Parts: sequence; C-alpha cells; structure tokens
Amino acid sequence: NKNLLEIKDLSIHYITDDGTVRAVEEMNLEIGVGETLGLVGETGAGKTTTALGIMNLVPNPPGKIIGGEIVFEGEDLVKKSQSELRKIRGNKISMIFQDPMTSLNPVMTVGDQIAEVVKLHQNVNAAEATERAMEMLEKVGIPGTRHKDFPHQFSGGMRQRVVIAIALACNPTLLIADEPTTALDVTIQAQVLDLMRNLKHEFNTSMIMITHDLGVVAEVCDKVAIMYAGNVIEYTDVKRLYTSPKHPYTIGLFGSIPDIESDESRLKPIKGLMPDPTNIPSGCPFHPRCPKAMDICSQRKPKNTEVEPGHFVKCLLFENTEK
Ligand code: SF4
Repeated sequence: NKNLLEIKDLSIHYITDDGTVRAVEEMNLEIGVGETLGLVGETGAGKTTTALGIMNLVPNPPGKIIGGEIVFEGEDLVKKSQSELRKIRGNKISMIFQDPMTSLNPVMTVGDQIAEVVKLHQNVNAAEATERAMEMLEKVGIPGTRHKDFPHQFSGGMRQRVVIAIALACNPTLLIADEPTTALDVTIQAQVLDLMRNLKHEFNTSMIMITHDLGVVAEVCDKVAIMYAGNVIEYTDVKRLYTSPKHPYTIGLFGSIPDIESDESRLKPIKGLMPDPTNIPSGCPFHPRCPKAMDICSQRKPKNTEVEPGHFVKCLLFENTEK
C-alpha cells in the first residue's frame, strides 16, 4: 500500500448553541509517500478543521469526529488513544502554522528549540543536538552561527524558516502546513515555498498544504482538493485541475486566472457569500451561488462521483440524476 494517509468518509461536526456546524462532511482523500496535497478553499470551508482532525486535535467539545476513518501508515488514528496520538504528533506528523510566533518560544534561543526536538527524536547528547540544530538552520538558509539568537532577532520570513527547521528536525513522514506563507511578504513567500519544495524532496516528506492561494498550489502541490462548506467538491491532480476543472465552484475560482504562471492567482471572489456554517443550504450547498444550478440542486445532495480515473467531483451535473 503506497498511500501514507487515507481519509475515508470523514465527518467532523461542532455542536454549538446556534446549531450543528458541519465543518467536514464525508471527506475522502489519499496522500501517497512524498506527495503534496493542496487543500484549497475560502475561510470557513473546513480546511483547518481537516488538519486538526488528522492530528485528532479538534477541540472536543464542541468538536467531534462523528464518522469515518483517518488511516495513517495503515492504522486508523480515529481509534487511537490520546497518549498514542501524542507519540505520532510531532514525531511522524508535524504541523506548521500561519504565524510562526505561535509555535516559537520567545524566551529560548532558536538553536535550543531545534535541539530540544532533535534530542527527543534521536539518541544524541547535548553537544551533538546543538550541532544538528546548526545543520538544520543551514538547511533552511540561516547561518548556523545564529543558533544563539532569539526569535525576535529574526524577520517574519526567517522565523517561518526556523519553524520549518523545527518541524523537519523530527523527520516526520507527514507535514501539515496551514497557510505557512500567508503572513509573509510576496517575495519572502516565494522563497519560503521554494525552500519547502526543496526540503520536501530532500526528506521525501508527504505534505498537506492548506491555502487559499491557487498560485501556491501550482507551485508545490501534486494533488488538490477544493473545499466548499465542509465538502471536498473537487479532487484530482494539479495538472488536471488547471486544465479541465469540472465543478462550477472550481471554474468560478479559476474564472479570471489566465495560466498557472500568473501572479493573479489569489482566489477570485464568487458572487454571493459562503453559507452560514450552522445553516448550510439544502441539497448542494453551493446551489444559491451556482450559475449552473438546476431545480434538483436544492433538493438532492451530490454524491462524490469519479468523472474520470482519479478525478472526483461532487456536483449533480456529473451524476445520473434520473436514478
Ligand atoms: Fe451547481 Fe447543482 Fe452542481 Fe451544485 S449540484 S454545483 S448547484 S450544478
């Protein structure tokens, strides 16, 4: 089995005073060894809940995995105890967040922070761990001699490099990056993405890249899942998504993007708003905004349909609705 991670029919809900938020609905995704999956969608589409779900870190209550499986290296993480999960987190699965300061300790040198992780995962003494920390800094493009510096002595882009060094220090098989470049300047973004892509190849790490930026997807991803109101509405490899998007929402996102190389790759706003998460429209959740909506779309929920091998779409246009 070459899949590192298989998400099967995963549903995650939040039970709130205002009602049930269906943050993730019947999600199916697969990630192979060394592969990068882009998880794309507007704010509130369910991207971050998916990431937290994989780590089994959805705050409970109000959140709960209500069904499905997260099979990682052949084992279902949903069934694991918290102590088993702690061993997997930060060991086999690492996460990088948007704001590097949330994962850095402001009163500890960056070298010590990397060395701490190294010591936890490799059987080395303090001097060796510091040496490895310096090597890791060099790998992310920071002079090793700066290991004695504190986070505030670095720029935003450099801090994110330090976070990447920490995340890779435990040699994870899966790296989940939640909007890792959003808070950075455009030129720095490109450098950090380049770095991530190179390191991914060097370490053969699989990656989930959460983003709202289709340029980032084109740059680093092999496969992409487009999310809308908790649903993966289209899922295929990057090339196919760019050359033949099928779902009306995806087509809307690509609306005015001429090509992959374009700088104008931010998601284009589509007419109308994302639905209220506690009150998702009946049938296809996209129907109030969909230019192709049919009468049946407000009544019937689209099923995940394989329109060609490896290309999945949740839209009634691609189903035999006569059934
Ligand atoms: Fe549009 Fe209907 Fe397809 Fe939903 S199911 S995307 S409303 S055509």
